[in-house]
Parts: sequence; structure tokens; C-alpha cells
Amino acid sequence: MAPQREWFEKDYYRVLGVSDTASQKEVKSAYRKLSRQYHPDNNEGDKAAEERFKEVSAAYDVVGDPDKRKEYDEVRRLGPMGGGFGGAGPGAPGAPGGGFRFDGGDIGDVLGGLFGRGRRGGGAGGPGRGTGPHRGQDLEAELHLDFDDAVQGLTTTIHLTSEAACSTCHGSGARPGTTPHTCPQCGGRGVLDDNQGFFSFSQPCPNCAGQGYVIDDPCPTCRGSGVEQRPREVKVRLPAGVADGQRIRLKGRGGPGRNGGPPGDLYVTARVGAHPLFGRRGDDLTITVPVTFPEAALGADVRVPTLDGGTVTVRIPPGTRSGRTLRVKGRGVPARKKTGDLLVTVEVAVPQQLTADERKAVEALAAAADGRSPREHLGVQEG
Ligand SMILES: [Zn+2]
Ligand SMILES: [Zn+2]
Repeated sequence: MAPQREWFEKDYYRVLGVSDTASQKEVKSAYRKLSRQYHPDNNEGDKAAEERFKEVSAAYDVVGDPDKRKEYDEVRRLGPMGGGFGGAGPGAPGAPGGGFRFDGGDIGDVLGGLFGRGRRGGGAGGPGRGTGPHRGQDLEAELHLDFDDAVQGLTTTIHLTSEAACSTCHGSGARPGTTPHTCPQCGGRGVLDDNQGFFSFSQPCPNCAGQGYVIDDPCPTCRGSGVEQRPREVKVRLPAGVADGQRIRLKGRGGPGRNGGPPGDLYVTARVGAHPLFGRRGDDLTITVPVTFPEAALGADVRVPTLDGGTVTVRIPPGTRSGRTLRVKGRGVPARKKTGDLLVTVEVAVPQQLTADERKAVEALAAAADGRSPREHLGVQEG
């Protein structure tokens, strides 16, 4: 179960009159004794006893269950920030003026904050360590690729700028020769205890913005931030078959993490150049191949270039119309699952100029085909 709001407010161990190191057996026997003592059957009409009985039951509901008790202990350990549950006498929980204040947000936020701080571990260290681990930046880069490289895949170097520890101050944020000093207001903890009577909570120190240290003389290069933008080279291996506009995530190749945090990711958007002969349709390559009218009419074997610089022989069946696409299996883009195909679109070429012999031959063809108009079906009288 999720930690409850009451867990911050109530000291269930006190309610049961046991120490927080008591065994489950001790907790159980304390509960038995108290529940008998305050049971409504034994205290007829006694409102105080009834309240007490309810408290004891609620306390046992949590610390009597080993799993819930574990969570409750965690909340207790992190909650008061060392302030303990001090100031609350037995029975004080729920009393007027007790309890602690929620500064907005739900319990998840509060817990997140607590656990976040708890993870920092070791308390406030020296300057520069007050902010805890930070994941590195996610970076974006564009990579311009040749058509061939995109199809085959390639290893290349991307140049980009990203955050890195400032080279002038080595990340301290202070002008060289000076050192940041511990924040006097919070003593370097980065947090201030906000005592709200019974319970205390911690807030980021306003004097040092939670850093735990103060820089009097900021580094001129990074203006005190300790980080600067620095050019970087990232070697990347792009898989075969990258498409134009595709965004590739390279895990852990982004900006470096700070204070032991993990690096960010690098997102590379591929910009693939055009090819003079080939086009791309997914994992298929496309090419348009001109054929003569006789080749289209009679059929022919034509040699078609492939992207790897070779050729493949494509059989044009007799009576192939212009614009028909023939598929050559497995000669497209070598994709991860299955290599694409080469799509050969046949285009019947019409000569711009004819030699005298050609003209004669074409005229003979026209005469032979007289009366066989391809436009018959349009129902239009010609001549
Ligand atoms: Zn600097
Ligand atoms: Zn401070």
C-alpha cells in the first residue's frame, strides 16, 4: 500500500508504547494489552477511551503488518530530517495545533522530495556536490548522408556542442584562485528545517538555492554555473537502411551526467541526399528504365544498374506498356528484417529525331497497323 498522510503525523510506536526496534511479537502483545484496556466493552460511554482504542487499532494496522511497517519506518526515517518525532507526548497526535503543514502538492510530491533528498546520501559534501546526481542533457543532431551511405549504413563522427565541466574553474563555478564557501545560513546542508510545531520539514535554503555553498567571485567563463558548452565528437554507427527524416536514438551518447548521474541520449535526425538514378520507397529502391518501342512490343532482356555498382538483367515481357513496374526481388535496401526489392519502371522512349531509315520503318509500321487505332474505345470518329 502507498504511504498514508497520517504516517507523517502519527508516531505509532508511541501510541503502542513500544520502541521502534520492538519485534513483531512485542508489538502484538502491546497491542493486545492496550486494545483490551481501551475496548469499548470495558469503557462504556468513555469518549477518551474510545478515541484511544481507535488510535491503537490504527497503529497496529500499520506496524503490526511487517510490510507496512517497513514503509512506515522509511517515511519516519526520511520525514523529520533528523528532527525526530520530538515534542509529541503520548496521545498528542491529532491534538489541536499538532500535525504538520502541507505546502500544497500531494503526498506523492512530498515523498518524492524526501526520497530524492535521501538518495543524495552522505549529507552535504564539499562545494559542487550539493545538487546530487544529474542525468546528462538529451542532445539533438542532424546528420547529412549520401544516398548510398544511408542504404548501406555507416560509421561516422558527429560534431556537436554540449554541456561539460567548465574548463576554467573545473566545475566549481568560482573564479580560479578563489573557492566557494559553505553557506552560513544552512551550514552547507542546502536545506533549512521548517519547524511546524510537532513536525518539522525541510525546505531548500534560499540563501544558496539549495547548493550548500556560496560563490562570492564567480568564474568569468561560466558565470558561476560550473558548466560550459564545449564542442564534442561522438562516433556513431548508423544501421543500414536509414530513411530521410528518420530520428535515431543513441542511448547514453548525449551530454555527460553530473555528480555521478547517467549521461543523456543523443537523437540523430538523418537527412538523406538524393541519388541521380535511384529513389527510395521504404526499403525498396526505384529506378526508371527507358526501353524502345520494339523492346516493349517484342519483349527484351535489358541490363539495369544496381546500387552496389553492378547490374541485373530484367526480362521485359512482350507487350509491356509504358509505366509498368517490374519487381526484382532482394536488390533493394538491406533492411534489418528483409532486404527490399528493386522496382524497375519501364518507360517507352520516343525518339526525338529519326534517321531516314528509321522514319521509313516507322511509316511502314503505321501502314501495317492501319485501321487498328488504340483509341477505338473512346468512340471518336477520326479523319
Ligand atoms: Zn567556470
Ligand atoms: Zn544555504
